[in-house]
Amino acid sequence: MTSPLPRWLQDHLVAQGHLAPGGITRHARVRRCRRCRVPVVSGLDDVVMADAVDVDPAPLGALAEAAALLRGCTTYDLARRAGKLVIDRRTVYEIQGWPPGTRRNVDVVKAHECGVQPQGLIGSTIEARRRYVLTDDPPF
Ligand SMILES: [Zn+2]
Repeated sequence: MTSPLPRWLQDHLVAQGHLAPGGITRHARVRRCRRCRVPVVSGLDDVVMADAVDVDPAPLGALAEAAALLRGCTTYDLARRAGKLVIDRRTVYEIQGWPPGTRRNVDVVKAHECGVQPQGLIGSTIEARRRYVLTDDPPF
């Protein structure tokens, strides 16, 4: 992947933790999975000691998050801040204190697994995403 950034600037941003070597930033973006080609949201999952992660964009309900965690799948908050999507790893504190659907502009999503269809979806709490995400709830 080519980058429009000068090499020295990209190296500096990577060294400071603002950019992953693959060009992934703290501001998540939608792209296609390299293996299965489904849309995923990619970004760094924290400010410090971050991992570059791919998550399924569909918001999970509480039961779906519990099922994902029991399977060993990591869950994340997908939040809209200052007009940008940001991915944050959910710790035990977020999982216990903020169940899916309880915060405005924050959806709970899971790490992308190729070939695994998300189940137990709920409507997005992010206004800009509501009309693009299909849920398990019928519209009537
Ligand atoms: Zn995939």
